[in-house]
Amino acid sequence: MKEVVITGPKQFEVREVPKPTPADGEVLIQMKAAGVCGSDIHLFLGENPNAVYPRIPGHENAGVVVEVGKGVTKVKPGDHVVVDLVVACGKCPHCLSGRRNICTTVKARGAATDGGWREYFAVPEHEVYLVPNEITFREAALVEPFAIGLHCTKRANIQGGETVLVLGSGTIGAVILQTLKQKGCKVICADINDSSLARAKKYGADAVVNTKTQNLKDFVQEFTGGIGVNAIFDSACYPGSLTAMLEQGIPANGATIVPLGFSTTQEGITQAMINVRELSIIGTRMSSGQFEPTIKNVAEHKYNMDGMVSHYIPFSQVEKVFELMLHPEKDMKKMVIVFGE
Ligand SMILES: [Zn+2]
Ligand SMILES: [Zn+2]
Repeated sequence: MKEVVITGPKQFEVREVPKPTPADGEVLIQMKAAGVCGSDIHLFLGENPNAVYPRIPGHENAGVVVEVGKGVTKVKPGDHVVVDLVVACGKCPHCLSGRRNICTTVKARGAATDGGWREYFAVPEHEVYLVPNEITFREAALVEPFAIGLHCTKRANIQGGETVLVLGSGTIGAVILQTLKQKGCKVICADINDSSLARAKKYGADAVVNTKTQNLKDFVQEFTGGIGVNAIFDSACYPGSLTAMLEQGIPANGATIVPLGFSTTQEGITQAMINVRELSIIGTRMSSGQFEPTIKNVAEHKYNMDGMVSHYIPFSQVEKVFELMLHPEKDMKKMVIVFGE
């Protein structure tokens, strides 16, 4: 079988290796579709300071079970599955409280441990989730990013009815927008790309603002009648974006701000900026316990998948994925690698 290995910044190899056999408690998956995420791009471009090479990327993995190890009861050969991006111990206090994503030894698949850009791979049965056959593999590859939407909106305790600002209208911004609309929120989407904002409109954004040409604070003030927004999700995540989202006039008093990035640049936040308005700044990382509800939502067609992906690329032409990472096409959106096509 073939696997893709990133061997260092801007370097990759396609290797021929033996097909693995599942150990006890493991499931052997034949890959069918794998999403390309921003974190895969950071890994390839050498922009992840914690990256260890060589690494097989990919954490948005959908495939079919072809073999199971001893003791596996959850799935059987022929079942369609998606794979959790979180690799956790299952025994620490965080795992036991249902927060596998912050396990003391947590590893993100495709970053701290090898991912799914290979024809076959074996994973523990508790890290796979059954997907009904009516969900296509191309849709199933989007379950992981949509699980992020359920997770971060749960972290922010979104109840429905809030007016929310989503900064950034890329894949994760579009996912959060759709999740917020499901929950009954009013959503403003902000970005610097008009095609992403047009897509956000299509996904139900109540207002869109291009922050290259319009002043965000003025827009928010106007839209909310001078109150500000009740919650902010920052999926733009540029250095300084968290500070920018705390600007007087953008969050309402008592608002919740959820940064989704991992920038290590110092922000310019003061105690007063948080406490004068009694703001909540909430951390969020990957997802926990959200794959099953997300699969249910996808099966019930609760998300608009149309336009989420701009490029489906056959695994046999995976070098194109890396070319596009280095030289993205104008207005391109997400890429998904498809196997056996
Ligand atoms: Zn992802
Ligand atoms: Zn743990």
